[in-house]
Amino acid sequence: MPSHNLAKLRIDDLEIIGYSVAAEETVIALPQLDVCFDIGKGPDQVISINNVLLSHGHIDHCAGIAYYLSHRNFSGQRPGTVLAPEYMIRPIQQITDAWGVLDGTKVPANLVGVQVGDEYPIKPNLFARVFPTKHSRGSVGYTIIEKRKKLKGEYSKLTGPQIVELKKQGVTIDYPVEIPIVTYLGDTQYADFGQLDYVANSKILITECTFYEDEHRERAEVGRHLHVEELAKLARQMSNEHIIITHVTHRTSLAAAKKILKNVLDKRDADKIIFLMGRVKS
Ligand SMILES: [Zn+2]
Ligand SMILES: [Zn+2]
Repeated sequence: MPSHNLAKLRIDDLEIIGYSVAAEETVIALPQLDVCFDIGKGPDQVISINNVLLSHGHIDHCAGIAYYLSHRNFSGQRPGTVLAPEYMIRPIQQITDAWGVLDGTKVPANLVGVQVGDEYPIKPNLFARVFPTKHSRGSVGYTIIEKRKKLKGEYSKLTGPQIVELKKQGVTIDYPVEIPIVTYLGDTQYADFGQLDYVANSKILITECTFYEDEHRERAEVGRHLHVEELAKLARQMSNEHIIITHVTHRTSLAAAKKILKNVLDKRDADKIIFLMGRVKS
C-alpha cells in the first residue's frame, strides 16, 4: 500500500502525480519525464524517479530528501540525482550523512548545486533550465525543455532520399528548436515571469496560489506567496495551455478557492486552471 494518497492528473499523455498543501507538504512528479519537483515527505510513488529538482529549503518541500536517497539505496536503485540551489547542497549532505550514521549505512547521492541560468541534462533530448523566483534566499524554479531538430523551410518539400543525399554532402538541413514542456514555479510571490519566454510558452505551468480571501493579502505578502489577484496578473502574461494550481492554504476550502478564482481571473485564464488537490481520490 503506498504511503500517500496522491492527486493524479493526465494532460494529453503526460501523467502528473503529487500532493501540495501550503505549510504541509509539496511534491509533484512527472514520471514520464523522470522528474520530481520538490520531494515533500518522500512518498513511495516517487522514489523510483531519478531526478529530484528542489526549489527551496522549506521543510514542507524537502523533508523527505534523505528518505528518498536512502530508500533508493535500500531497494538497489542507482543514487538519486538532486538538483538544488547551491546553498542547500551542504545541509542536504549533512542531513543525509547524519541519517547514514543513525541507519548504519552510507547513503549515496548525486547532489548538484544549481545557479540561475544553468541547464542540466535529464534525458538525451530533455534538460532542465533554472530561473530565479521570489520566495526565500536563493529560491529557484525549473522549466523542462525538449530539444528537437526542425527541417529548414527551404528543404520542407524534399523527399526522403533527397534529404539523405544532402546529409551525405554535409549540408545542414535542420536547426535546433526548444519546446518547453512544463515549468514549476515552486513557492513565489509575483514576479514578471512572462518575460522568460520558455516560462510563458511552457505547455504546462505549475504554480502555487496560496491565498484567496481579501483578508489574506497580508499573509501572502509576509510569506512571499501568491494571492489570487496576483495570479490573475501573472496569468495574463502567459501563453500556457494548462495551469496547475498547487500550495493552497488549509485556511480556505478548495471549493471556496475555486469559486473566488473563477471570479477574479479572466475567463480565458480561468478555463486553463486545474487544482492539483481537486484530483485526489480517496
Ligand atoms: Zn511551501
Ligand atoms: Zn516556502
